[in-house]
Amino acid sequence: MSTNKISEARPRVAVIGAGLGGMSAALSLAAAGCAVDLYEKNSHLGGKLNVLTRDGFSFDLGPSIFTLPHIFQQLFARGGRRFEDYVTLQPVTPHWRNFFEDGQVIDLDPDPVRMSQQLAKAGPGLEGAFRDFLNYSKRQYDLIDEGYFQQGLDTLSELLKYYGWRVFKLDFLSTMHRSVCRRLPNPYLQDIFDFFIKYVGSSALRAPGFMNMMPHIQFGYGLWYVEGGMYNLAHGIEKVLTELEVTIHRNCEVTGIETDGDRVTGLQTGGIFRPAEWIVCNMEVLPAYKKLLKMPPAACRRLKKYEPACSGIVIHLGVDRIYDCLAHHNFFFSRNQRKHFDTVFRKHEIPDDPTLYVVAPARSDQSVAPPGHDNIKILPHIPWINEEMPCPVEAYHALKDRVLDKLERMGLANLRRHVVVEHFWTPVDIQAMYGSNGGAIYGVVSDIWKNQAFKAPKQSREFANLLFVGGSVNPGGGMPMVALCGQLASDIIIKKLQQNAPENHV
Ligand SMILES: Cc1cc2nc3c(=O)[nH]c(=O)nc-3n(C[C@H](O)[C@H](O)[C@H](O)COP(=O)(O)OP(=O)(O)OC[C@H]3O[C@@H](n4cnc5c(N)ncnc54)[C@H](O)[C@@H]3O)c2cc1C
Repeated sequence: MSTNKISEARPRVAVIGAGLGGMSAALSLAAAGCAVDLYEKNSHLGGKLNVLTRDGFSFDLGPSIFTLPHIFQQLFARGGRRFEDYVTLQPVTPHWRNFFEDGQVIDLDPDPVRMSQQLAKAGPGLEGAFRDFLNYSKRQYDLIDEGYFQQGLDTLSELLKYYGWRVFKLDFLSTMHRSVCRRLPNPYLQDIFDFFIKYVGSSALRAPGFMNMMPHIQFGYGLWYVEGGMYNLAHGIEKVLTELEVTIHRNCEVTGIETDGDRVTGLQTGGIFRPAEWIVCNMEVLPAYKKLLKMPPAACRRLKKYEPACSGIVIHLGVDRIYDCLAHHNFFFSRNQRKHFDTVFRKHEIPDDPTLYVVAPARSDQSVAPPGHDNIKILPHIPWINEEMPCPVEAYHALKDRVLDKLERMGLANLRRHVVVEHFWTPVDIQAMYGSNGGAIYGVVSDIWKNQAFKAPKQSREFANLLFVGGSVNPGGGMPMVALCGQLASDIIIKKLQQNAPENHV
């Protein structure tokens, strides 16, 4: 990746949106010598990486699982800084605790001995299949990392050209679920490993087999917590942005991008035109095409295959007791997870019995709740908002009741009676806060039939000096991927600026 400075004249770059994708691009470009203006419609930086403090509780409103720290170390290194000087990580053990309706509880644990004990709970003789699965997962990850991640490949044709015959080593003809079932002959393990697709808010029944690289991301690179709360990651990046003299405009919504032929010329905020030589847009591609560029419907239709990933209802509870059965990360599985996937991702309906992701961060960090209290986040995945068939708000509340019933039934006795603080978000709130397409929480869905797990390209097809970053473009959603995306998009700009520098013209 390029870290070279560009030239003495500092090109002016405007970044729209201070999610992790926008912040990563702003840091990389400022470090390379650009004059960067970062425009964010909200008062906080970090986008979906967000925090709420209330009555002694500190709730991470967005991400709670941190993976692939080396991507953030590379980002800070671009700015001449050490990640460790700004953000402290601590490993989370066990990785996940998995609860099933029949009472079975199985941990995923990075320690091989403890993991063997957990596998024995699932059934006899699973050790070999589990190790083989992790080896297959590593092979898929290594291949994807080498090309799609590190080279920033954006289209199927770029991918075929880069990998050549090696493309057949990628598991792309099977679905993730089929490949899991073929390799792991155990219903508990099948449910658990299918649900690794939660990292990108998609369905294991529709995602390509190579998405089974995700267990290697967790077992090979670790699962981490940011000391003091996940939001400290945003604080750390913001500090570097300030040190690199990025001009930050908070509470400053961009309402339009101005164009001239095949170039963008600047943007509009509050009736003021702000010129820019390059624009990096962290607003998702489709909303930006519609609202900022006011593109005709035909141009937007081309993007239809980049359907949003799932949304969710997000329930944060402060409770006046501690639920010892919970680990830091927990999954309460649906009785029928295939039905859950099918309902959310094919029928686009609210599921009766979704698999629930439940986070209890006080297991790693007691500062997030007052003594004797627990801090619990509950996140079931549900469909994004289809404006032609909007879901009535009562359906979200009915789902919340079913979710709490399920948790009370499966071990969190009398949960409702112990609630002292509550915060509840529906897809409508998520869409309003971050401007994401249909309230999606991970950008674009990974679907073998719709887009082969590709997201939109980083470089705009219509405008030569407009790039997109974040969950709706390659390599996609999740904190490390959007942070990588910001770096890759910056490299495209830096390379073009270097080519155009006067000293490169003979
Ligand atoms: C509840 C929840 C749980 C999650 N859990 C995890 C997890 O455990 N691990 C993980 O890795 N990921 C998780 N994710 C996903 C992760 O948060 C996202 O993939 C990632 O943070 C998205 O970053 P982004 O830069 O693409 O977009 P965003 O964070 O959405 O940032 C976009 C920014 O642009 C701003 N913006 C939009 N339009 C404009 C405009 N016109 N003018 C100015 N500003 C604008 C928005 O306000 C926002 O700040 C979770 C997300 C949610 C919501």
